Amino acid sequence: MFDAVIIGGGPAGASCALWLKMLGFRPCIVERRLALGGLQNDNPYPNKWIASVLERTGFEVAADIHRHVLEHDIVCRLGEAVTELEVVEGGFRATTAGGETITARTAVLASGVRPVKGGFAASEQVLIGPGRTMFNADFEGQSVAILGGGDNAFENYIFVRKRGAARITIFARTIRARREFLEKVPPADVRIGPYPTAPEIPEVAGRSFDRVVVLYGWEPYLPYARHLALARSARGFVETSADCETSVPNLYAIGEIAQRMHPCCVTSMADGVVAAKAIQRTLEEDAIARFAERVQRATPADAPVRNAPRPRIR
Ligand SMILES: Cc1cc2nc3c(=O)[nH]c(=O)nc-3n(C[C@H](O)[C@H](O)[C@H](O)COP(=O)(O)OP(=O)(O)OC[C@H]3O[C@@H](n4cnc5c(N)ncnc54)[C@H](O)[C@@H]3O)c2cc1C
Repeated sequence: MFDAVIIGGGPAGASCALWLKMLGFRPCIVERRLALGGLQNDNPYPNKWIASVLERTGFEVAADIHRHVLEHDIVCRLGEAVTELEVVEGGFRATTAGGETITARTAVLASGVRPVKGGFAASEQVLIGPGRTMFNADFEGQSVAILGGGDNAFENYIFVRKRGAARITIFARTIRARREFLEKVPPADVRIGPYPTAPEIPEVAGRSFDRVVVLYGWEPYLPYARHLALARSARGFVETSADCETSVPNLYAIGEIAQRMHPCCVTSMADGVVAAKAIQRTLEEDAIARFAERVQRATPADAPVRNAPRPRIR
């Protein structure tokens, strides 16, 4: 039995596993992809948002996460998706698509999010979500509809324009993008308000485009937890206490699946640390109580109790 089974080896799950391992526990990561690093495997752009990480693309950040975890001999089941997580006597049992079962005293949901599809199906013409697929697509001379009003929509407008698109229109119900991007997009290329879509054609506002880019944000996806009584937000994200514990005791949720803080690598990694420390407290409680009993038994009843000298604070 492992101390923790961690579902998902992105920044959140990898960080949690690393901290648990360093604290003397046995975590096991189950990761659907063949490599750790999560969404950073889909990020070909420079990741400039992690203090101490310089001049690394998302791909390289993912590769570093992968290497770091493996160097610490953390048990990983790569290329295995968890299809079922259950509460069992003494902990949890995760079952993978390949039929393997992994039991552990605690469990950590770190399976992240997936792009909202809005009824569209990904194809050559329809691109869903930012990152690798956008990066690999050809936009030269094409007419492009970008659906969404957040940072991703506006940032990708700039990207698609640099890639030589002939005509680009952003369709946004509301606008939430940051100022830096707004300043680079001509207002004439933006439509605000409701717009009809026909995903099966595909068509947007009655027009067809060479490419439709769907950037509707992200949603949590955890069908493997359907039998657990998990408290979820209105949008389906897993609710947790401040130390990342879910409504099911000894089950933690970290990173984007919990949407506790601004989603990025650093906050996801921070969640991993918080959960690892909470798991440590839980798993060491008994050992501490047993040790305290032994100390009491070893101390004669009339022995004077000495306070340890207090450290000086400068
Ligand atoms: C294009 C792009 C660029 C980005 N750029 C930046 C940036 O520059 N800086 C930054 O800080 N953040 C960036 N982000 C966001 C950042 O990547 C995420 O916030 C972060 O990866 C979230 O970490 P996570 O561990 O919560 O989830 P994820 O990274 O999504 O990891 C979850 C993992 O769980 C696995 N999984 C899912 N379901 C299962 C299952 N059933 N069984 C087993 N495994 C499963 C997935 O395969 C995945 O590897 C970017 C994201 C994208 C898409």
